[in-house]
Amino acid sequence: MKRIILLGPQGCGKGTQAKFISEKYEIPHISTGDIFRYNIKNKTELGVEALKYINDGNLVPDDLTNRIVEDRLKQEDCVNGFILDGFPRTIPQADALREMTDIDYVVLIEIPDEDVIFRLEGRRMCSGENCKDLIYNINTSPKPQNEGVCDRCGRGLYQRDDDKVEAIRKRLQEYHEKTSPLIDYYGDKVISIDGTKDIEEVTKDIFDKLD
Ligand code: AMP
Repeated sequence: MKRIILLGPQGCGKGTQAKFISEKYEIPHISTGDIFRYNIKNKTELGVEALKYINDGNLVPDDLTNRIVEDRLKQEDCVNGFILDGFPRTIPQADALREMTDIDYVVLIEIPDEDVIFRLEGRRMCSGENCKDLIYNINTSPKPQNEGVCDRCGRGLYQRDDDKVEAIRKRLQEYHEKTSPLIDYYGDKVISIDGTKDIEEVTKDIFDKLD
């Protein structure tokens, strides 16, 4: 079984690595941030509620977030495992998750705060419906071939409101206060990975540990 949690500050490469892990082990990539953004875009009740918190860089309340994950883990594609990206982010969320399922691995991708700010400020997303999995970065890589435009579909790129610098600082503070205590919480299950290396090297380090 590969029931995996990915931990690490925003911008450490969780989303990118989650995609590779998901493909290799054929398990679904569950990102609470993506679920919230999908609902915000489609103006669902959940989206309207979540938006109140997300744009300012605050966490969405635990009970709302826990319910979403519980529903998602009940779906059939999670029978052989899953990779949780962005959840749990607090001790109460980890307690709730423990009631839902066992966890086999906790992968912690570590990078310093300055790198987080540099990377997140450069992050750009495609506004096209079919490119939700594409993440560009004008400070690091992959840079778009033409500035401000998606390589795949040609639509405009945008910066997430929560990737603006004030929100980034708030999110980092939230990470240190509320999420990093999870490293001790999961103790021996935690596999530490140096997230400052190139993407391919980080992927290799993760696969070496999970194989
Ligand atoms: P992410 O894409 O993981 O950085 O998530 C974007 C935003 O969604 C976060 O800054 C939070 O406001 C919210 N969010 C995502 N996952 C959680 C979670 N597990 N608990 C609370 N809020 C979350």
